[in-house]
Amino acid sequence: MLTGIHFLLSYKCDSACDHCFVYSSPDAKGTFTLDQMKKAFGELSKIETIEWIILEGGEPFLFYPLMYEGIKIAHDMGFKTGIVTNAYWAISEKDAELWLTPLRDLGLSDISISDDEFHYEDKETSPAKHALSASRRLGMSCGSICIGKPTVEEGMDKEYVKGKPVIGGGAVFRGRAVEKLVAGLPRRPWHELIECPYEDLGDPGRVHLDAYGNIHLCQGLSMGNMWDVPLSKIVREYDADSHPICSPLVNGGPARLAKEYDVPHEGGYVDACHMCYLVRRALIDKFPQYLAPRLVYGL
Ligand code: SF4
Repeated sequence: MLTGIHFLLSYKCDSACDHCFVYSSPDAKGTFTLDQMKKAFGELSKIETIEWIILEGGEPFLFYPLMYEGIKIAHDMGFKTGIVTNAYWAISEKDAELWLTPLRDLGLSDISISDDEFHYEDKETSPAKHALSASRRLGMSCGSICIGKPTVEEGMDKEYVKGKPVIGGGAVFRGRAVEKLVAGLPRRPWHELIECPYEDLGDPGRVHLDAYGNIHLCQGLSMGNMWDVPLSKIVREYDADSHPICSPLVNGGPARLAKEYDVPHEGGYVDACHMCYLVRRALIDKFPQYLAPRLVYGL
């Protein structure tokens, strides 16, 4: 049941982290206009199951007035609200309070702050720490997101043992992580990658919206385009079995997707997402309305 809508407010970010699965960077485009955001909210009122609206990116604080307006609209519509940020703006605890107080006063339900070695080398005095302290002092619900560099789990560097986790650290191998983080990691045979480990593509609980109109089931895997067909109609009529990418993924994972469309593939991949992402990228010209936007594939 679809309960969460995440707005990718923009693909633009002050950083370009190695593990970013949407290829955000300071040069990235794709920012919602106020009118686009209001149009999407107008459709959300027609989907009765929605509970949460999360604003993220890219870095949503780069577009503070738009982010503020989005939280206000969502709150006025009765949704719970959240923001995901890297806290670049929290140059001190006092400054962080300046940014956070108006959001607290609006009724923001939760803020998630990236606090890891990809974002900050000095973890003790990082902006993330300032933002977390300020949030707590303001009585806001907050949490940190901590992704580590990939590590090979003990004993798995020699040979893959079925059923055991191979890679630690929490990074997912999509987007820029595939370009930057997979080198030297052990791989699993491609034919064992027979299910999607993270997303319920048959009955999605959340989707991400971007300014290009894409309704992401997973990064770069779209239900359809909400600027072409109303969002509520796409969500109502979505059926994984008639979606050309989701159907094989649901019925046999990335291995099935590659077989279905005869996509040349490697002998092994770090995990299912690694294979899925590369097979999808190979299919992007065949299914441009479902595999979009190209920037999420580094193209
Ligand atoms: S990349 Fe593919 S396998 Fe991984 S969560 Fe997304 S849809 Fe599932």
